[in-house]
Amino acid sequence: MIEGSCCCNSVQFELTEKPSMMGMCHCSRCRKVGASSLVFVESDKFKITAGRDKIATFKAQPPYEYDRCFCSVCGTSLGEVLSEMDSFPINANCLDTDFEIENQFHEFVSEKPHWLKIGDRAKQFPKHPHE
Ligand SMILES: [Zn+2]
Ligand SMILES: [Zn+2]
Repeated sequence: MIEGSCCCNSVQFELTEKPSMMGMCHCSRCRKVGASSLVFVESDKFKITAGRDKIATFKAQPPYEYDRCFCSVCGTSLGEVLSEMDSFPINANCLDTDFEIENQFHEFVSEKPHWLKIGDRAKQFPKHPHE
């Protein structure tokens, strides 16, 4: 079992399996909300175990389509934990259980600040990998 939580521990969740993929998004939005390191989880292997009522949502403004979830008590950025998709990204920094996983890609590298140096060999995409 892999566990995760926000900074104040109000919101807690668990994963029954290791996430399938890890990626880093360097877009300004992910950076500003502090959720650049993402793991992708499948909805049937992910469960919010505490504090669902503490999760607040920042609604995406067009052209963006993905809402941002955060803990309304401590402000921790959680990723898309309320998503209804089959697979969605959550903030890897919220994971309390450590496990082996390798970052597979960097996206929106064109929006990365110069002071941030990429130190792994994962694939780099200037924008979204599908663009
Ligand atoms: Zn919190
Ligand atoms: Zn992003």
